[in-house]
Amino acid sequence: MRLGGPESNNIEDRRRAGGRRGVAIGGGLGGVLLVVLALFLGIDPSVLLDPNAGQPQRTSQERQLTPQDDAARRFVAQVLGETEQVWSAEFARHGRRYEEPTLVLFSGATQSGCGYAQSQVGPFYCPADSRIYIDLDFMAELQSRLRAGGDFAAAYIVAHEVGHHVQNLLGILGNVDRQRRGLGEAASNNLQVRVELQADCLAGLWARRAHEARQILEQGDIEEGLNAAAAVGDDRLQRAGRGHVAPETFTHGSSEQRVRWFRRGLDSGRLDACNTFAATSL
Ligand SMILES: [Zn+2]
Repeated sequence: MRLGGPESNNIEDRRRAGGRRGVAIGGGLGGVLLVVLALFLGIDPSVLLDPNAGQPQRTSQERQLTPQDDAARRFVAQVLGETEQVWSAEFARHGRRYEEPTLVLFSGATQSGCGYAQSQVGPFYCPADSRIYIDLDFMAELQSRLRAGGDFAAAYIVAHEVGHHVQNLLGILGNVDRQRRGLGEAASNNLQVRVELQADCLAGLWARRAHEARQILEQGDIEEGLNAAAAVGDDRLQRAGRGHVAPETFTHGSSEQRVRWFRRGLDSGRLDACNTFAATSL
């Protein structure tokens, strides 16, 4: 990627605060599986985060940030800055004002408006405080372990979470929340899949628009993004995690679906092309 634009100012850097680490990522097969599960980009935090969980025990030592940590922060800030430009313009085209989200960088664990978050939940968006939470260790894990890696794969993650923020601003998350109440598990999961595939589509739309305006994409970036989308498909994660696939339990869509909707946003660059809720088949 070629990111030359200004960095976003909406970064809240909590990395130095440390915080109790959850299950250490990286130990043997369990560690790998945890990372894989964490790749459920955009979990529904209300399910996974316990708002009543205790406060983190602060580690006595502050974490020392490495030059790599700072490079990662700059990268995320630039990607977020790109999303702000694209979505501000897109909202303006529809006569609306884009309210920029805050992106919280944390290390290990942190408090969010959706509960206490540990790094193994993976990057997520919390609608209650309009914040995106990203653990930089997770970004490093993503790149090195799953080989979904590369800069555009990481940008896709940020753009997907920003997609959830866009859904929040448009009232889609609230609507879906209301609709899901009283639904059975399969129907509720189906709605959740539509939310996630739409966020993938919005990430594709962002990449298209940012490239049109500032030529951010380089050779191989699209493939990188498609690989990342495929790597986080429910079928692939389930096969890796428990050896079999149960489509009715999908909450994010299959690899094929995630790739297709990401591609759809990328090819069309249009908001109305991302209406997963109107699609008869996903
Ligand atoms: Zn998501």
